[in-house]
Amino acid sequence: MLFEDELEPNCHPALPIIVAKWNKEVRAILICRAWKGVETHWYGNHTIACCGTDSCPACDVGMQSVRKFYIAARSCRDDNQAILMITPTAAESIHHHRRQDHGLLGMEVVLGRSAKRNTSPMTARVVNYHPDTSEFGQERLERVILRIFAANAGLKSV
Ligand SMILES: [Zn+2]
Repeated sequence: MLFEDELEPNCHPALPIIVAKWNKEVRAILICRAWKGVETHWYGNHTIACCGTDSCPACDVGMQSVRKFYIAARSCRDDNQAILMITPTAAESIHHHRRQDHGLLGMEVVLGRSAKRNTSPMTARVVNYHPDTSEFGQERLERVILRIFAANAGLKSV
């Protein structure tokens, strides 16, 4: 688990990355209006951001990149803030529920897996909407993600 404040002390509270597993559904309220898409590779036993064919070690050996979406959320289990990883298919099923003025902000989602493997397709459903959710901020989300992937050091999840 990589915490944001390992990269910049005294900046923000620690934010773990949360990925739904087949035996661990994630229920959380989205606290950003939009997610951030990142081209990634599974490389060297962790997720790295693709930095383009010229300098990317994974592209260099012919690996395909996979687009993933990251968004800040508040866990319904313990009320803690975290960054959720959402796959494109799951993102699509959330996306059409977005509100005109608030985007994804305030949506309560449940993320899971469609089969007994952590690599099986991610499922997502919107179960509730919380209109008074306070906003994490897009700029802050961008900074958090950038720092997490900084220097292609990779991303570990819980
Ligand atoms: Zn690459």
